[in-house]
Amino acid sequence: MSSTASARSELLAHEQETFRQQLFDAGLLVPMGIDGLYGRGAEFERIIDGIDAVVSRKGTAVYGASPTRLRFPPVYARSAFERTDYIASFPNLTGAISTFTGDNSGHRALLADRDAGLPWDGHLSPAGTVLVSAACHPCYATLPPVLPESGVLLDIYGYCFRHEPSIDPARMQAFRMREYVRVGTPEEATEHRDSWVGYGMEVLDELGLDAADAPANDPFFGRAGRILAANQREESLKTELVVRLYGDLDDGTAVVSANCHRDHFGEAFGISTSTGEVAHSACAGFGMERIALALIRTHGIDSTSWPAEVRSSMGWTEP
Ligand code: ZN
Repeated sequence: MSSTASARSELLAHEQETFRQQLFDAGLLVPMGIDGLYGRGAEFERIIDGIDAVVSRKGTAVYGASPTRLRFPPVYARSAFERTDYIASFPNLTGAISTFTGDNSGHRALLADRDAGLPWDGHLSPAGTVLVSAACHPCYATLPPVLPESGVLLDIYGYCFRHEPSIDPARMQAFRMREYVRVGTPEEATEHRDSWVGYGMEVLDELGLDAADAPANDPFFGRAGRILAANQREESLKTELVVRLYGDLDDGTAVVSANCHRDHFGEAFGISTSTGEVAHSACAGFGMERIALALIRTHGIDSTSWPAEVRSSMGWTEP
């Protein structure tokens, strides 16, 4: 790293740490003793709900009442996770649930290690469940093998887990994603991805955020991952809407993504269209905490001083 680059990354780290401390001091986020995991204060949740209202309004303007609303727990079956192939691309971000399945002697061994101040989680075994990595992942295993004629359109909102501890409050280990998911023909999936780049931009615009679109640069793992990342860029499968939280100290933070999976999930989960072709899918995801942080960075830590049109579009009546 050149000395200019390292000075810049030091400045960035300082900005991120200062911002996080401000969020703690204001009670917006509550430290939980580990980077990337935070409690949410009442005011932070009010901001999240306001963003949700703007996203919902866009969804209703585009689709009326047609999206099927689905909510999943933050944990799902390992068998479904297997089929997403996430472990091939992002093993380092994955979270799998373990529990104790042994007998009394196994339990005594665990407690002995614990009493000796040693790690005890080696005594646990896989529980058959994993943490949800992307809000839409649990939905595919719930879809019928043959879709209705018009495909499906889902409104999904849930917690995601990614193991990437960071001092940057915009890089959380557990965060919420609001998604509109389309599963249907190749044309329907492509249209969904393309149109949500624009709709996503309109949502951010309504929130007074200055965003730009960029091809996604997912951190695929390892050597094979470099090929996946190159494919993703070449075929422009995923577009991100990016807001600069830290000026020009980095390339900005992706707050919305519009992602076409082509036949990846249709193939893996055995889903076909009403005419018998492998279903294609696409999703548009709103990173709720990141949008909240972008609002705070852009309009200030005190939401009572945010622009009136932003407040009113979030459904907040003036005091
Ligand atoms: Zn998704």
